[in-house]
Amino acid sequence: MSEVLLEISHLNKTFQSNKGSVQALHNIQLNIKEGEFLTVIGPSGCGKSTLLKIIAGLDTQYNGSVKLGNLQVVGPGIEKGFIFQEPRLFPWLTVEKNIAADLSLKNADTRKKVDELIELVRLKGFEKSYPRELSGGMAQRVAIARALLRNPKVLLLDEPFGALDAFTRAHMQEVLIDIWQKNKMTMIFVTHDIDEAIYLANRVVILKPRPGSIRNIVPIDLPFPRKKSNVSFQELRFKVLNEFEKIEELELIDSSGI
Ligand code: ADP
Ligand code: MG
Repeated sequence: MSEVLLEISHLNKTFQSNKGSVQALHNIQLNIKEGEFLTVIGPSGCGKSTLLKIIAGLDTQYNGSVKLGNLQVVGPGIEKGFIFQEPRLFPWLTVEKNIAADLSLKNADTRKKVDELIELVRLKGFEKSYPRELSGGMAQRVAIARALLRNPKVLLLDEPFGALDAFTRAHMQEVLIDIWQKNKMTMIFVTHDIDEAIYLANRVVILKPRPGSIRNIVPIDLPFPRKKSNVSFQELRFKVLNEFEKIEELELIDSSGI
């Protein structure tokens, strides 16, 4: 049994605005093991991005406890890599310089690491290209390589393939599983695509909205490589869909004021 890397307990988050307060997360309890691939799925507005930002240390205004490797998360740091939906590359820098970020490629260690990452994200031959010359999938692979440069313990991904077409998306899922298996790192991946959530994960966390809370956690015990057309995959798909239908029923009852 691997060790717990991330321990979230009694996590509550309320946003205050001029329209009043919104409880974005309610009593989240979640332990994530080292090397685990966790996907988080739920309808829009159920607190997925808020949860990820809190884990990343990008938002520290919360109640409860979030610990990474026994240390309370108090801000961002190199142990946590973050990938947004859009790649956020520097347009004036080449692929290799985007990956190196603020480190110099003249340093032999950095050069070696950047070359390894370019290989890992399958961008060999594009080292000197600029972001405008890349497809959406390639640009997102540059962003992933950049996030991996400092060997984070955990990679946090907020709907990273949401803007990509279905074929590119399927390819990116393959690339990400390959990276996860080679680097043996912990992944927390937010999506609203059920197939994607099941395809990648060891466990799928299903969130429900108002307030954002955990509806269920579904273990995915399928061996890799996986096939979406497989019967056991489809069974899990029904299980997750069923949870969503229950959320919708609750929402309908809620909005009708019963
Ligand atoms: P998701 O990523 O699941 O779509 P979010 O985490 O972005 O959801 O948002 C959860 C809830 O918190 C929503 O009701 C949203 O309107 C609210 N919220 C998010 N960010 C802010 C903010 N900066 N100020 C006020 N409310 C916010
Ligand atoms: Mg979001």
